[in-house]
Amino acid sequence: MNKRMYELSSHASVIRELFEYGKKRKEVIGNDNVFDFSIGNPSNPCPNIVTNSLINLLEKTDPINLHGYTSSPGDYEVRKSIAEFLNRKYGCHEVPEKIYLTAGAAAALTISLKAILNKGEEVIVFAPFFPEYAVFTENAGGTLKIVKCLEGSFNIDFDNLEKAICQKTRAVIINYPNNPTGKILDRDSLVKLCAILSKKEKDYQHEIYLISDEPYRELVYDDTFVPFITNYYDNSIVCYSFSKSLSLPGERIGYILISNNANNGDILYKSVCGAGRSLGFICAPTLFQYLIPSCLGYTSDLSVYKVNRDLLYESLSNIGYEIVYPDGAFYLFMKALEKDANAFSDRAKKYELLLVPSDSFGYKGYVRISYCVDSDMIKRALPKFKKLFDEYYI
Ligand code: PLP
Repeated sequence: MNKRMYELSSHASVIRELFEYGKKRKEVIGNDNVFDFSIGNPSNPCPNIVTNSLINLLEKTDPINLHGYTSSPGDYEVRKSIAEFLNRKYGCHEVPEKIYLTAGAAAALTISLKAILNKGEEVIVFAPFFPEYAVFTENAGGTLKIVKCLEGSFNIDFDNLEKAICQKTRAVIINYPNNPTGKILDRDSLVKLCAILSKKEKDYQHEIYLISDEPYRELVYDDTFVPFITNYYDNSIVCYSFSKSLSLPGERIGYILISNNANNGDILYKSVCGAGRSLGFICAPTLFQYLIPSCLGYTSDLSVYKVNRDLLYESLSNIGYEIVYPDGAFYLFMKALEKDANAFSDRAKKYELLLVPSDSFGYKGYVRISYCVDSDMIKRALPKFKKLFDEYYI
């Protein structure tokens, strides 16, 4: 067998490991006694429109079509509905011919990277970052180059970004609202980022793609503005997912959108189709493709996440923890109370608190708290957080 593939399965992701540990622990001490903040599995049910539309599809659509293959990039009418929705919402000019339906954002990223990378080319990511970027980039033959965000603010370190870009740079991945910090990239920062990339494209005489990984696009609180990248940068690729917005992570549905302004966009789209073919990611799940048109613009009830964010942010800050203020997604990035985040995460287990150490996000000294959980669990967990804090400071 392939040694690297074996390694990938035997070194499971830290998030998954902690999640599995939590499941076993619950069997021993009971569900209510484990405070599992490990995984980003939406805790809200999908909105009613999802269930109603699925029933409608099952009752009214010819089953041969409903469960059959669509064309490889996805059903044309579905892609058209997505393009029209985006154009209405963001005032852009996207077309179905540049949309490729995928099994979630993971497949969208894997395909996009495979489509653009040649062996040894580099992909820049901003740490902390979603750990799977490393796996997807490696699989596409590329090399990951990490630019750390500024300590404290977690804004992009533009000076270091400029230094990191070189002849081999083929793409930069951004992810806002961000996993794990919950931060959003404001318009000025995006404009600055795009200006740097455009200049470097001229310097190096080739495209540098901006890949925007957007499973959390709608998970934004307090009406914070989230810029839509194709309006800011021509050579942009959006990797979108319905996993979190509609609480459908197990159904595996999302899409790739290539900006209609991308240079040689037709060739890029053909490469995406070729990459989809080579990876076996053709024809995303048909039933869920057909669900999309009726659900565009809907989300599950996000107010619960806002309640959880406010409760956790305020309570943990009051205890004395240092936290990055999250505008979106459903994660808090909290400074560990000792240098080694793994040791801190282990210590938290003593109180049955499952917090993901930040090392695998490419950033040391923090833990990620996933708050897509029951608010009641958060309330019950707060005294445990206090006891954990007191261990260090009393
Ligand atoms: N990108 C980020 C930042 C994520 O947090 C996740 C999932 O948690 C994914 C991509 C993968 O999403 P999907 O379930 O749509 O494949």
